[in-house]
Amino acid sequence: MNSALKYLSSVIFHLRQKRVLQLEKEFSSRQWWSTEDLYRFGNERTRSLAIHAAKNVPYYRELFNSINIDPNSMSFSDDWNRLPILEKDTLRAKYNDLVSQTDHSRKARPNHSGGSTGKPVSFLSDLRLYEIMAANMRLIFSWAGWKPGEMVLHLWGGGDKKLPLPFWEHIKALLNGYLVLPVYSYDENVFIRWWEVLKKYQPTIIYAYPSVAADFSRWLEGRGYRPKSVKGVFCSAEVLFQDHRRIIEKVFNCKVYNQYGSRETPCVACECPEGNMHLFTDLNRVEFLDQPENPSGPKRIIITPHENYAQPFLRYDLGDFGAPKEGMCPCGRGYPLMEMNLGRQNDHINTQDGRIIYPSFFIHLLDGKKWIRRFQFRQLKPDNLDLTLETDSPLDIQEHVGHLSSEILPKLQSMMGSGIRLSVRVVPLIERTISGKHRFVINELEKK
Ligand SMILES: [Zn+2]
Repeated sequence: MNSALKYLSSVIFHLRQKRVLQLEKEFSSRQWWSTEDLYRFGNERTRSLAIHAAKNVPYYRELFNSINIDPNSMSFSDDWNRLPILEKDTLRAKYNDLVSQTDHSRKARPNHSGGSTGKPVSFLSDLRLYEIMAANMRLIFSWAGWKPGEMVLHLWGGGDKKLPLPFWEHIKALLNGYLVLPVYSYDENVFIRWWEVLKKYQPTIIYAYPSVAADFSRWLEGRGYRPKSVKGVFCSAEVLFQDHRRIIEKVFNCKVYNQYGSRETPCVACECPEGNMHLFTDLNRVEFLDQPENPSGPKRIIITPHENYAQPFLRYDLGDFGAPKEGMCPCGRGYPLMEMNLGRQNDHINTQDGRIIYPSFFIHLLDGKKWIRRFQFRQLKPDNLDLTLETDSPLDIQEHVGHLSSEILPKLQSMMGSGIRLSVRVVPLIERTISGKHRFVINELEKK
């Protein structure tokens, strides 16, 4: 890079950093607003986005005309429910019509979500979203006691990273205050290097997939290593199970914070120090809708990210399930609350009589089986479940597997119907998704 370019990129970096700090200041004060004021603020952001979409986005221009909705009108909040849900299939099919005809899209970044096991989609992310994400992270990290200048370690995503870091990368990590280590694959040697990183950089925050943080914690515990610097471990992108939370909190001696969002809809919710999931209703409008086929079950989470002007999504169906939670949190933050322990896209299993079973049922079937290192249930056919196991290879492995089958099959049959068949296999490695996530339960019938 020549010196003029270097100068330009450092000016851009500082301008962006300045905007992130300004946003963080706004978020920090907004978190103490009343729930009513936060909803009012969020509703205005929804309306502004809809006005922009009606004017500048062909898909919405046509839609609003055809169903006679005017985002400027007084009746807009009632009309909102008449807007169709934006499904991933529609986003794929109408990609171009959903792009804004303004500068927002020309400056936006192409983005993708969904790995080998989900339904991949491509979309545009407004540049402002990156500043909002950075500021929101600073806010939630502060909930754990993080202070500006303290190191954040991300165990996240794919790619490759040379360790120990080359000199300039080391300096960059110190200046930026964060370091990202890829988790696509890991083993004993990788854990040793991560432990070296923990000791050297003394991060106060770890941001990780829960399965990865839990595996690393188990390894640290086995070695008798006790990290000392960490104030909070933030888990996202996978369902956070109690077993994971327990081992991570024990080994890192700090609280685990569940965070919820997606690439299309970042910064949806985060757990506070009191253990409640707060919804950032200023950044996203979140709706919980009944499932027509299962009205008494968990609700579909429908999200409208307020700040993606490049490619607005109004009422986007992420494919996740949750529920609103009543009441105020003792922490005093006004953000409303939600329950988020029910499931994610295609990780629930269908029964032949039309019921849905959520992943925690399957997870608990293997409670206490210490010889199983990692597992994955896959529904291949309506009456066929495949369970693969990574194990610590005890000598009598086939006997263990036989016992396991005869122990859990009756439980599966009583839950799913007597026709269900189960096959159990031990494999050397259960493959992760492209971005390094582990899936415990996969519904292959729902993959498209
Ligand atoms: Zn709270």
